[in-house]
Amino acid sequence: MNLVRQGVLRLKEGIHPQYKEVTIKCACGEEVKTRSTKGDMHVEICSKCHPFFTGKQKFVDAGGRVDKFKKRMEGRG
Ligand SMILES: [Zn+2]
Repeated sequence: MNLVRQGVLRLKEGIHPQYKEVTIKCACGEEVKTRSTKGDMHVEICSKCHPFFTGKQKFVDAGGRVDKFKKRMEGRG
């Protein structure tokens, strides 16, 4: 318990790996500035071009669900 407490105190005092400003470059051209202990990074996909975030995939999925829903409602007559 004592060791854990000391660790927490150290973090609060700022004794931890140095974070520097880095740029995460995506394949789509998007650049995200962040802080990391590592250097610049390259990623294949980011929040800007990921289907989950662009909503394209979501839209297709939602469309299918609406169709099913409509058919179900029509079936009820
Ligand atoms: Zn991207």
